[in-house]
Amino acid sequence: MLQLYMPLNFLGVLYREIKQSLADMEKLFSLLDQNQEIADPVSAKPLMIKHQQGGEIVFNHVDFSYESKRQILFDVDFKIAAGTTTAVVGHSGSGKSTLSRLLFRFYDIQAGTISIDGQDLRQVTQASVRAAIGIVPQDTVLFNDTIEYNIGYGKPGATKEEIVAVAKAAYIHEFIESLPDGYQSMVGERGLKLSGGEKQRVAIARTLLKNPAILIFDEATSALDSRSEQMIQTQLKEIARSRTSLVIAHRLSTIVDAHQILVMDNGRIIERGTHQELLNLQGAYAQMWERQQTGITDNDGNTEDEQLQ
Ligand code: ADP
Ligand code: MG
Repeated sequence: MLQLYMPLNFLGVLYREIKQSLADMEKLFSLLDQNQEIADPVSAKPLMIKHQQGGEIVFNHVDFSYESKRQILFDVDFKIAAGTTTAVVGHSGSGKSTLSRLLFRFYDIQAGTISIDGQDLRQVTQASVRAAIGIVPQDTVLFNDTIEYNIGYGKPGATKEEIVAVAKAAYIHEFIESLPDGYQSMVGERGLKLSGGEKQRVAIARTLLKNPAILIFDEATSALDSRSEQMIQTQLKEIARSRTSLVIAHRLSTIVDAHQILVMDNGRIIERGTHQELLNLQGAYAQMWERQQTGITDNDGNTEDEQLQ
């Protein structure tokens, strides 16, 4: 019985390992796929950031579909002045994250133009666009490597001193030092499991190291503990100060200071303005705000229980 059990148990472990590797492969292929669809024109030049405070972003009457049958964005039209912060809010599936994917030019659009500092994304090299933009994603994927590698990835050739400096700025240095192997601790799927807040702070450190002109912050859907949340908000404000920022927000309390808020619904911008202007409008945003003040729902319309799933 014992003899039979052992190999089966071993196979179980092996199966999980293989399944995990396949999941990693899938992630890798989906990333490769995204890049394959888009080619640089022969005449493509590197993107030039002309403003000191990050680039000006313009979405000019953009229509977009991932698949020909289903249009996702309809006539999306907005401008983010250099060095300012624009927040995007709206129900889940309304097209918020799609905006950030398009800014990275993972896909081409069907109508309109997207430009950074007056340069159409289709006319500049993808490498230069991706170098200009830093993203702190909704769910940070860590590599199965050391925490030092995971932060240093933001800037090839970064020194240990630079890595420690950004880890301090992202308030994750002390946590790293408290680990038995410090900066050499293995993280990722097969290493140390970090909490959502810790992962986001690693992503912030990585982004600080990259020092991009444009920052995209896709706020985590699931609630972080309030200490992590506060720390991340403070850091975010600091990094956003001298950059052009696009913040995809789930908790409206985090964006009351944004220069501009766009409210999306089914791929359309239905309201825009500052927090106060939108409250005065007494429309969709004001309703979301009202609901969140009661503490029952986030702006995706999910209850707290659903958020935790
Ligand atoms: P949000 O970030 O506001 O929750 P998204 O921008 O991620 O919404 O998605 C907008 C819509 O596009 C959703 O209906 C989603 O199902 C669809 N979508 C997202 N990614 C893809 C994709 N790769 N292929 C096809 N449809 C997609
Ligand atoms: Mg999203």
